Amino acid sequence: MNCEILSVGTELLLGNTVNTDAAELSDRLAGLGINVFWHTVVGDNPKRLAEAVAIARKRADLIITTGGLGPTYDDLTKNVLAECFGRKLELHPEEAEFLKAWFAKNASTKYTDNNLQQAYLPENCTVFHNDWGTAPGCAFEEQGVHVIMLPGPPRECVPMFEVCAVPYLKGLAADVIFSHQIKVFGIGESAAESMLRSEMERMQNPTLATYAKFGEVMLRVTAKAPTEWAAEAMCRPVTEHVRDILGDKVYGVDVPSLEALALDIMREKGLTLSAAESLTGGLIGERFTALPGASAVFKGGAVTYCDEVKAALLGIDPALIADKGAVSFEVAAAMARGVRKAVGADVGLSATGLAGPDGDGVHPVGTVFVGLADKDAVYVRQLHLGSGRARVRQLAASHAFDMLRRYLQGLDIVPEQYS
Ligand code: ATP
Ligand code: MG
Repeated sequence: MNCEILSVGTELLLGNTVNTDAAELSDRLAGLGINVFWHTVVGDNPKRLAEAVAIARKRADLIITTGGLGPTYDDLTKNVLAECFGRKLELHPEEAEFLKAWFAKNASTKYTDNNLQQAYLPENCTVFHNDWGTAPGCAFEEQGVHVIMLPGPPRECVPMFEVCAVPYLKGLAADVIFSHQIKVFGIGESAAESMLRSEMERMQNPTLATYAKFGEVMLRVTAKAPTEWAAEAMCRPVTEHVRDILGDKVYGVDVPSLEALALDIMREKGLTLSAAESLTGGLIGERFTALPGASAVFKGGAVTYCDEVKAALLGIDPALIADKGAVSFEVAAAMARGVRKAVGADVGLSATGLAGPDGDGVHPVGTVFVGLADKDAVYVRQLHLGSGRARVRQLAASHAFDMLRRYLQGLDIVPEQYS
């Protein structure tokens, strides 16, 4: 099935709003084995929207619209799509009741007549009730083209896609599609692809595709079969094969991130974590505590940006900093040890380096030392992460989490090249 995502909203064209809906939907559609061949953005203009629909229906057999389902005058997606596909809009009484009840409960928002517009949907459609907002979405099929309409706000669009559109789409397919995401850290996309190219070219079902993510690579194995069990069984040998080729650079299958994996293992083992951060300025703590359940593991940390604070809070000898420099193997080691002790955690992480754009006259920009200490040992990884302040800082945090997961998985921690 070939899909076009039609994002409706002038704010997207003006650059006021980033089109995250299209990105989120594309990612999920790939997991369903649906090819997304086009992203189109069109403003809140009926004529141009109708033109975009005319193009889309010629080349795609699934059109997913986002936005323009609300009650205001610029919300015209349903009217235009219904007209393009020759369907009338009809009132759905249960949606009208829901809207009235919703407004009665949410006293701060006044019910006005135009709100009822949201309860009008194309005749003979499947209604996607909106449990996350007010405007319902819907789906219908006309002359071989499936149309799905979803609301614009991402907190409505994404759950409605998952809860309503995914079962609808699965119901259309004769086969079940199953996919695994293989997560890789410490190797670039082109290197991963070249190691797997011959297999990737040969494979048709399952398929294997690589995606470059920030600082990581994700491989998706997708199989189609009459049952989920059979499709999963087809994916399994491919996943094993990728593990054989890429080795312990594969950090997990179907895990959200390095830090989420580390959190799970630490919780299971009853271990606690702390972090001393210089160039990352709190990113390690921020990324870890963004995970639900982090409090069982993360005890705390310190942002120790200048030399005096590194010495005062982490108990590092000022002479060591003066002698070796703040960006050094020795200071990264002392930071990891120091924070572990100060906080009373099982493991201490540290990061010190040059995020740029200015260097220190000694090291090139992008030089970073990332450390990990436990009660017995300390490990430091020296990295050359190139330029781009935000990029260097995020990659430094990712390396800290990669060291942590390797430590937790009993793998070699330090030797790591990144280019
Ligand atoms: P509402 O009932 O809130 O009006 P709607 O379905 O009519 O929902 P829009 O009016 O098009 O949606 O958009 C509402 C808001 O949702 C926009 O102001 C924007 O912040 C966000 N939004 C819309 N489309 C997108 C998109 N493609 N990606 C990310 N955010 C979006
Ligand atoms: Mg709107």
